Amino acid sequence: MNTDILNTSCEILSKLISFDTTSRNSNLGIVDWIEGYLADIGVQSTIVRDEKMDKANLYATIGPKDKPGIMLSGHLDVVPVDGQEWSSDPFDLISRDDKLFGRGTCDMKGFIAICLAYAPLFHQANLKTPIHLAFTYDEEVTCAGALTLIEAINSFPIKPAMCIVGEPTGMQVVTGHKSGFALLTTVTGFETHSSLAPQGVNAIEYACELIVFLRSMARNFEENGPFAEGYDIGFNTVQTGLIKGGSALNIVPRECIFEFEFRLLPDYDVAALRKQIDTFIENVLEPKMKAIHSEAGIKLEETLYMPGFELDPGDDVIAFVRALAARNDDIKVAYQTEAGLFAQNANIPSAICGPGHISQAHKPDEYVSIDQLDKCCQFMSRLLDRTSRQ
Ligand SMILES: [Zn+2]
Repeated sequence: MNTDILNTSCEILSKLISFDTTSRNSNLGIVDWIEGYLADIGVQSTIVRDEKMDKANLYATIGPKDKPGIMLSGHLDVVPVDGQEWSSDPFDLISRDDKLFGRGTCDMKGFIAICLAYAPLFHQANLKTPIHLAFTYDEEVTCAGALTLIEAINSFPIKPAMCIVGEPTGMQVVTGHKSGFALLTTVTGFETHSSLAPQGVNAIEYACELIVFLRSMARNFEENGPFAEGYDIGFNTVQTGLIKGGSALNIVPRECIFEFEFRLLPDYDVAALRKQIDTFIENVLEPKMKAIHSEAGIKLEETLYMPGFELDPGDDVIAFVRALAARNDDIKVAYQTEAGLFAQNANIPSAICGPGHISQAHKPDEYVSIDQLDKCCQFMSRLLDRTSRQ
């Protein structure tokens, strides 16, 4: 264990945690601090702001400017602590039993702190391959930060050759994840007294018919695939997570709103899927609804799309990141990260590897263990060694 660099990482982590960067807040405080920290060691940052100018991404290159290099990426925002019972102040880093507690310790300021602790070493090392630090806003809500940053990166004369996203994976190497696709459904029916039910259009019941259709899609995916190796759930899934409708038992409900989401294997055709649902609505459900009341119908709105990604088994990035993590294996996961966006929208092959476990994220008393931070420091030391040599 290299205690010096670990201690420096913990000091920086303590500073990063003290900024309440819940996604709804401005993140300019933390960005200013990181920009100042990097400037002090002689590293210039590019600040890419959002339209409202109250949030920003930070991008900084250490080493030669004329080579593609390796991007280390993390998000600066954290999920809210509202309604959670914490044993201590979530924005004050507390050390207990070889664990560091605080909002964002695991997801994912621990990784960012280590990147920053190593920044002076990268800077002094006369790197042959540049390291790019890419820190974003709004990952936990819309990924707007990554999208804005990608626009900027795509305009640079030279783009990074690969990206390592430091989301918590327990320092396992993740070489693919599913895409996420969520839709909000509004079913508009026609109200009547419940004794006249056949003269009304029952929004809840039509919603249920659509949900049953989605359920049959889920069953079909589970039974007939497509299937992929390496995932905990190796096929597409769809599930309804939220539903609301009706006002009283004796009124045929006029409105029912529900939300459902797909978790899809990378490259699965989202447009074809959407068409299947639209066709069922237009050909089967709406004609029956409109026969009773012309204004009745079903409206779908896409609320989220996060692309998936998957590296080819022979891709050099896999061997490279495995070597940094000192492992011979890699896994795929069902949750989404910015890696899918970097891969799809910026064409940068990406892998995920970072300290902490996803099961510790987003919870009260979120923590990262010292052991995980140490493993990440070792990962970074190997990266320093590689990039100094070639
Ligand atoms: Zn995260």
